[in-house]
Amino acid sequence: MLEVDSLEKELGGRRVLRGFGMTVPRGAVYGLIGANGAGKTTTLRVLATLLKPDGGVVKVDGVDLREAVREVRRKIGYMPETFGFPLGITVRECLGFYARAFEVPTRNLNGVVDDVLEVVDLSDRRDDLVESLSKGMRQKLALARALVHDPQILLLDEPAASLDPRARYELRILLLELNRIGKTIVISSHILPDLTDFCTHVGFLHRGRMAACGTLEEVGRHWRLLRRFRVRFMAEPARAHLRLLQAPYVERVEVGGLVLEFDYAGTEEEFSRLLVDLGREGLLFNRVEEVSSGLDRLFFHMLEEEEAGA
Ligand code: ATP
Repeated sequence: MLEVDSLEKELGGRRVLRGFGMTVPRGAVYGLIGANGAGKTTTLRVLATLLKPDGGVVKVDGVDLREAVREVRRKIGYMPETFGFPLGITVRECLGFYARAFEVPTRNLNGVVDDVLEVVDLSDRRDDLVESLSKGMRQKLALARALVHDPQILLLDEPAASLDPRARYELRILLLELNRIGKTIVISSHILPDLTDFCTHVGFLHRGRMAACGTLEEVGRHWRLLRRFRVRFMAEPARAHLRLLQAPYVERVEVGGLVLEFDYAGTEEEFSRLLVDLGREGLLFNRVEEVSSGLDRLFFHMLEEEEAGA
């Protein structure tokens, strides 16, 4: 759905994107992860056709950005970090304005605006002034604006950054629903727990380059970084310890009473098979939790590298 190759962008004399590449399959929820200043916003602004690339190729649904900007714009819905809505107009008028800008046919305009407000659950505020909305509601309005021309791909810049946990949860449900009805979603964030159980793919942007990308599992394996689990056994921690030491993909086993902690580099399926085997062998446990996801550790690893190289 989205192919980016060798993207270059200089801003204020600084090479912000340095040969950046990224492939987003159709129907993916793609988490673009990077530290502050890594270049996430710049990337999304280039993809949203708001910044002109200095070099490289961007193709959206097979259409080259350089050859058909207007066509690409129709395929993309962009939600920036700050919304910049016009004030003194109602929610409905605001969306109508953007729908016209996106050349939604006039005869469909009201219907489209009402449908989109319904999708983001803002129908009951449609006659209120934009400035009367809370932050979470403005964010829904920004999402509605990104959807008004029915784009195939949504580019969302740090959408959860300023939301409370409930609003974050609602946003996640909404995005999953949009994905279910066929939207491909690219979402930038440095809040990793927001992404780990939500994205199908991730890309790590590191100093203007893609450092690692793929499905969550592929990325973790590529970097040989491991997930860490904590299992509470009912009895026989010493036997459980020995058993885990012999199990494939298990490393750095630590024992604390009945609780054993270990890194695990296998797949989800392999992990669940390991748990079944432990149970079958009489090593019963009553709690399994993930202590830290590989994604977190990969992120911190990259930050350390960045600091070491700075
Ligand atoms: P954050 O998570 O803090 O929003 P980001 O990953 O989105 O960061 P960008 O906003 O894309 O990062 O910025 C990447 C780099 O480009 C930063 O070093 C930033 O200072 C620089 N930069 C961005 N815009 C400009 C500009 N207009 N002029 C000069 N430098 C810029």
